[in-house]
Amino acid sequence: MLPLIFFSNNAHKCAEVQAILGQEVLPYTRLLGRVEVVESAQSFEENAHLKAQALYPFLADKLQDFLVLAEDSGLCVEALGGYPGIYSARFANIKEGAKEIVRGNFMPPSASSSDIENNRKLLACLDILGLLESPACFVCVAALRGRVGGQEVSQSFRGECLGRVVKAPLKPNAFGYDPLFIPKGYHTTIDNIEEKNQISHRFNALKQVQVFLKRACLKLPH
Ligand code: IMP
Repeated sequence: MLPLIFFSNNAHKCAEVQAILGQEVLPYTRLLGRVEVVESAQSFEENAHLKAQALYPFLADKLQDFLVLAEDSGLCVEALGGYPGIYSARFANIKEGAKEIVRGNFMPPSASSSDIENNRKLLACLDILGLLESPACFVCVAALRGRVGGQEVSQSFRGECLGRVVKAPLKPNAFGYDPLFIPKGYHTTIDNIEEKNQISHRFNALKQVQVFLKRACLKLPH
């Protein structure tokens, strides 16, 4: 069996990845101490690779065949020129307002903010723009880095979930922007949708990972 080691410090993400893949995914903290990665890149793809690569040197010496799975995800809001995008986890720390953000005219924040603060920032931006809603898209890029059958692996897979963001009540225990996002074809926010893990951006990225893993396992000695 190929060890699949998941890089994330976000409990919501870990639970969803485990539920979607339906196979044993090892949180990296069972093998190593906490690793912090500075998400300094300009795309979901590059940030996902940065995270997967961060664990690689620690594991490459210890394990023969293994894969690190990392993901970078976020919400792209049309009315905000595609932001918060890669800054989704840090959105509330952008000091500038909606009009500057639309133009990409802001200082990229480094520290994360809480989900509630990020949701408040998004609602404030919609207010400033005089909007009740905007088309939006959740994006997830899953990256794999490791070694299979002695060969290096470095791959990424992108999944999206189209919909819209709306002004809706905040929910302190929900995941990220879920309470403000209605997927295409639905009439309620995604935190109320039981089948989230069968329609989400994360599902759409991870189903491609699953295809890759099936092929990769065939290359392993039995
Ligand atoms: P990352 O850890 O840099 O990938 O941050 C992802 C951020 O995007 C999270 O902190 C959430 O704010 C948001 N996000 C990603 N996926 C979801 C989701 O499935 N639901 C709600 N928010 C999400």
